[in-house]
Amino acid sequence: MTFTLQQALIPVDQGYATVDVQVVGDTIAAISPNLEVVGTVVNCENKLLLPGFFNAHTHSSEMWQRGVIPPLPLELWLAELYDFAPLELSKVYLSALGTAVETLLSGGTSVVDHLVLIPGQEFETIATAVRAYQEVGIRAFVAPLIWDQPLISGIPTGGNQPEDTTQGRSATEILQMLQEAINKFHQPEAGVYILTAPTGMQLCSDQLFAGCVELSDRYNLCRHSHLLETKAQQLLAQEKYGCSAVEYLNRIGYLSSRTSLAHCVHLTDDDIKILAQTQSTVVHNPLSNLRLGSGIAPILKYRQAGVNVTFGCDGSSSNDSQDLLEAIKIGSILHNVTDLDYQHWITPRQSVEMAALGGAKGFNLGDKLGSLTVGKKADLVLYDLANLSLLPRTDPIGLLILGRPTQVVDSVWVDGKRIVENGAVTTINVEDLKQELFAKSEWATNRKSKTVTQFEAHYRSVMGLPEAEIKGYS
Ligand SMILES: [Zn+2]
Repeated sequence: MTFTLQQALIPVDQGYATVDVQVVGDTIAAISPNLEVVGTVVNCENKLLLPGFFNAHTHSSEMWQRGVIPPLPLELWLAELYDFAPLELSKVYLSALGTAVETLLSGGTSVVDHLVLIPGQEFETIATAVRAYQEVGIRAFVAPLIWDQPLISGIPTGGNQPEDTTQGRSATEILQMLQEAINKFHQPEAGVYILTAPTGMQLCSDQLFAGCVELSDRYNLCRHSHLLETKAQQLLAQEKYGCSAVEYLNRIGYLSSRTSLAHCVHLTDDDIKILAQTQSTVVHNPLSNLRLGSGIAPILKYRQAGVNVTFGCDGSSSNDSQDLLEAIKIGSILHNVTDLDYQHWITPRQSVEMAALGGAKGFNLGDKLGSLTVGKKADLVLYDLANLSLLPRTDPIGLLILGRPTQVVDSVWVDGKRIVENGAVTTINVEDLKQELFAKSEWATNRKSKTVTQFEAHYRSVMGLPEAEIKGYS
C-alpha cells in the first residue's frame, strides 16, 4: 500500500495549497508540491483532501427503527426503542454495515458504536458488530452498552416509583462478559478498539462503574458514557447522589483524558470546570438533542473553557440518519443563537478540526490521527469539488460544512487502505446490503409500546406536565 496522491487541495494557514501526498504502508510519509512518485498514482485534481472525521457516538442497531418512533422525550423514546429492539444477530450485522457505509460516505473514517446488546447474546452481539466493521474496513471503536438497573430507574422517582419487573444481568456477570470481549476483540493494530461504556449514571451501579474503571486502567481502554442528556437526568442525579452527575463521575474516578461523554446538555459552570480539569471529551449530538427535545448543549462554553469537543450522529432512531456532515453543520451553526458575540461562533475550519482532531484526541489517538501530518496514520477523505453541491468554486471547506453536500466523497483510506473509490465502497457489496435491509424489514407499522404506556403517567407527573390521555405510542 504505497501510493502518491497528486495535486490534492489541502487547507493551510493562508488559504489552500495544491500538494502531493506520499503514503507508505499505513502512514503519511510526505506532503509537499511536486513530490517524486512512490507506488501507484491517484489523481486528485480538483479534489479536497482532509483527515477523516469521527462519528464519535452512535448505536448501530437503531437503524432498524429509524423514522418510526414518534416525537417523544428520551425517557419515553427509550421505552419504545427497547420494546422493539432487534433481537437477531443477522440484523446487528446488517445495521453495523449500514452505519459504517453511511459514515464513510459522509466523511467519517472512524465510528464509535455504543452497541446495544441482545440480552443473552451479549458476547455474540459484539463479535457480530466487530466482524461487520472489519469487513468494511472502517476504524471501529466498539463500546458495548452496559447497564445493571431497571429502565424505570432512569426517570426521577419524585418519591413515587412505579414498579419495573425487568430482570437484567448483574454487574459481576456483565463485567465478566466485557473482560472476555476485551481479550478477544481489542486489537488496536487491526483498527478495532473495545471501550468500557456504561450507558450512564441513570442506569448503572457504583459497582459497574468501578469495574469499568478497573478494566480501562488495566488494558488502557477508552471510557465512554452518556452524560446529562436530559433535564430528567439532571433531577435524577440530585435525587440519587445529592450532587451533579459530573461531580459523581469525578468522585468515582471515571473522568480522564481517555473519557468521552455523549450529549452533555445540562451541565453547570462548575461541571464544565471539572470536564476541563480532567481533560474529558464532549461528544456533541445536535440532531438527537433536537429530535428528543433534550436541549442545546453549551458547546461554545465548553470550547472557551478548553474542553475538547467532537461530533456524533447518535443512533439512527434519534437522528434519524448517519450523515456526519449534517451533524457537523447543525452542531456548528446551532450555537450562533446562544451567544450574541459572533466572535465565539464556530468557523468551518474549526468544525473540521473538532470532527477530526477532536475525535482523535477524545479516543486517545491525538498523536496518530486527526490531521494531515507526516508520520500520522493515513485515514484520509477526498472530496470531489466538481460535484454540483460544491459548485460554483468558493471556499471549499466553507461550502462543505455550511452547504448541503450530496455524494461528495470520492475516496476514503483507512490505515492506508482505500475502501471507497469513485464514491463507492469497495470492500463490501452495497447493493446486496440494500437488498437485505429491504428484505428484513417492512413498512411500518401498527405498533404500541407497552413500556411507554407503563411509564408515561409517571414521567408526566415528575416532569411537572399536566395530566393527559396516555397514548402508549406509536
Ligand atoms: Zn446515545
